[in-house]
Amino acid sequence: MAAMSHLEIQQFICRSDNYGVLVHDSRTGTTISIDAPDAKAIAENLRKRGWQLTHILTTHHHIDHVEGNLELKELFACKIIGPEGEKDKIPGIDQTVKGGDTFELARRPVKVFDCPGHTAGHVAFHFSDDFLLFAADTLFAMGCGRIFEGTAEEMYHSVNQFRSLNAMTSVYCGHEYTESNAKFAVTIEPGNRALQQRYQDVRRKREKNEMTCPTTIGEELATNPYLRCDSAEIRKVLGLEGASDADVFAEIRTRKNNFS
Ligand code: ZN
Ligand code: FE
Repeated sequence: MAAMSHLEIQQFICRSDNYGVLVHDSRTGTTISIDAPDAKAIAENLRKRGWQLTHILTTHHHIDHVEGNLELKELFACKIIGPEGEKDKIPGIDQTVKGGDTFELARRPVKVFDCPGHTAGHVAFHFSDDFLLFAADTLFAMGCGRIFEGTAEEMYHSVNQFRSLNAMTSVYCGHEYTESNAKFAVTIEPGNRALQQRYQDVRRKREKNEMTCPTTIGEELATNPYLRCDSAEIRKVLGLEGASDADVFAEIRTRKNNFS
């Protein structure tokens, strides 16, 4: 079998705290934008790298993820692939996908995860041969998305299905929320040294205005409270020693909503 080509990635912050992510395969000339938060910023980054946009992978219908769709489609005639469950809310969508699907892009498999919770039809894209996960607003560094259209139980499963991925998988997120996530996480698991250390590291990075993503599945397993509902310390702090992991998850999410 021929050696697989290497994907190049350009990540940048746009709007206020959205991540723009471009994925490029030089062998096939494929360039993918993960969501389209800001057409102008995306076009500028494409120009910088000399890439022609061929695809947009849409994770969910929120405006800060689809606002650039039509403008980019007009500029590049790119193909827009997004979740079947939200097809009526995604401007310019050409192809729909759902959890369990695998499709081919740049001659490699892309696997689709259903991630209900933040929105009902939210999907994540997993480039399994490249160890890349595009999780958008489901899994953040040391955090997870707010639950707008689903239940805490659904969000628990959406987030925790990623535990089975290879620990070295790079995780790209929809927003730079890492510092506030870490600030909260240390309050419910203060004895987690990996978490404390990462919090300090993230504070230093943000002081210099550096991006803190991508993260990895391994780092998240060690520090993300939403993947650590079985932690004895978290359970003790929350007073939920005997509860189910899903109930611990729900309590963490509720406390984060009320944290400032
Ligand atoms: Zn969203
Ligand atoms: Fe968002």
